[in-house]
Amino acid sequence: MDIHFLNCFTCSARVPSSWRTGALCLLVETDQGLVLVDTGPGLDDYARKPGIVRAFQVTTIVPLEPKETAVQQVARLGHSPEDVRHIVLTHMHFDHCGGLPDFPHATVHVHRREYEAFTGPPRRWTDLAYVRRHVAHQPDLVLYDESGESWFDLPAIRLPFDPEMWLVPLFGHSRGHCGVAVQTEPGWLFHVADAAAVGLEEYIPQWIASFVLGPHGPRLREFRAAFPDVRMTTGHMWLDFFKKGDK
Ligand SMILES: [Zn+2]
Repeated sequence: MDIHFLNCFTCSARVPSSWRTGALCLLVETDQGLVLVDTGPGLDDYARKPGIVRAFQVTTIVPLEPKETAVQQVARLGHSPEDVRHIVLTHMHFDHCGGLPDFPHATVHVHRREYEAFTGPPRRWTDLAYVRRHVAHQPDLVLYDESGESWFDLPAIRLPFDPEMWLVPLFGHSRGHCGVAVQTEPGWLFHVADAAAVGLEEYIPQWIASFVLGPHGPRLREFRAAFPDVRMTTGHMWLDFFKKGDK
């Protein structure tokens, strides 16, 4: 079993200029073929920029290089797009699911609540990050509801892959936002996506973190303290994380 950490969307703050981040997508080898956790933006987002991408271009520094798309990174790793059989989405903001059309054969796994938020009328400001055309190709969907199971001490939903993977509901940043836990050889990886900002906690006041990321920051800090062997990653990591190699 192998797992690759892909930066699918470099996004840097104008001020301070040292804040340079990449959107983390996971490429996991499983018994069901390659599973991609989040996609980053897709090729079409570069060719026909949605309004939200243009807004990011104004407010942040985004190089928007097609070589950062998941589909081109998968190719550089020696795979074809069809080898990505499944895509698990933490949530459906453009920077997490814009690449869906680049993998039209993949089955898409997402929490039902998130898909309903994506397809329904906007209700909160973060819903502006949904871009409807990202599912215009009508992918095969598997929608999940709470199952009564748990992963560690968190309610979670088992995904149908080996190694073990779980969808961990962490609603707030978006209405159906989830983390994804993956059993890797060195131990559990808990990708909490946009429910927390690992490494940024000391810079961001709690009220801003709750407003943008949802209410789970304190709970996830407790989790880290209780289970230090679980490696935690977030949807947007410092660029240094990717430079250290993808193992
Ligand atoms: Zn998001």
